[in-house]
Amino acid sequence: MNAFTRSITDFLIRNTQKNVEDIYEVNDPVQRQGFAYLEAWMSIIGNVVLAIVKFVFGFMLNSISLIADAVHTASDVLTSLVVILGFKLSSLPADEKHPHGHGRIEFIATLVIAIMLIIVGVKFGFSSYERLKANTPVQGSYLVVGVMLLAALLKELMSQISIDLGQRISSGTLIADAWHHRTDAIASVLVAIAILASGFGYYKVDAILGFGVSALIIWTGMEIFSDSASKLIGETNQEDIAAIEQLALSVSGVADAHDIAIHDYGNSKHVVMHIEVDEKLTVIEAHSIAERVEHMVNQNMWVTTTVHVDRVGSSS
Ligand SMILES: [Zn+2]
Ligand SMILES: [Zn+2]
Ligand SMILES: [Zn+2]
Repeated sequence: MNAFTRSITDFLIRNTQKNVEDIYEVNDPVQRQGFAYLEAWMSIIGNVVLAIVKFVFGFMLNSISLIADAVHTASDVLTSLVVILGFKLSSLPADEKHPHGHGRIEFIATLVIAIMLIIVGVKFGFSSYERLKANTPVQGSYLVVGVMLLAALLKELMSQISIDLGQRISSGTLIADAWHHRTDAIASVLVAIAILASGFGYYKVDAILGFGVSALIIWTGMEIFSDSASKLIGETNQEDIAAIEQLALSVSGVADAHDIAIHDYGNSKHVVMHIEVDEKLTVIEAHSIAERVEHMVNQNMWVTTTVHVDRVGSSS
């Protein structure tokens, strides 16, 4: 992320979030939710303001492209509402039916936004095909082009802030929403190109570029979708496993650690692992080693750990 975007994100966080120790890496569920709401509200306010500006200029300049673009921008509020709903529901406490909490709803929200992204990509493809077939000029003044490009710039900035926030709380939901913003920016640029190229008698430039954009959006949507689906299925992060193993081995009395499993429930992660200790230890001693390992892993990895104790050499 570039320094300019990062400084804006820092500014937004400092003015809206309280008591965040490290604003670049957030694991606490409540603080993650705060960051997600920040992204969603920034997006909603940004989109509403941009849509109004586009509508006003669209009517003033009598530009159908600007009005159509305004409708697109206004509809982007929908994905940000999915972000809010997703994080609200995923923060529900555990209940009898869902003893591990509802954190994985975040992954479902990401799937929903990814599907919406793919639909936008397909629509891009269709409208590009229509433009190619029609072979007609897009009317518009340089002022319309200027408004379009300025709006695209702002929307790209919103997209980058969303990606930045998403990376800080490692949330695919925010990254997916960010890509939605980016598609709107690209759409505005394409219309600007269409108007400019039409002025020179080229009526198909935006259509051809549109096909490329369509493929890019569909590809990105599918990537975000499969990423989130993989997390829902339950993927293993080898780096985390290795880190947990090292933490366990750093506790004195632990000869080995194995069978480490991480169950990721979105805003809570459960670790189950085995350690090997000297068989001559008393139960009290072995138990206190196990507890030290649990504390060590819990504090460093933001997880809840359960340790099973084996005697050295028996990896059962
Ligand atoms: Zn439930
Ligand atoms: Zn215990
Ligand atoms: Zn074992």
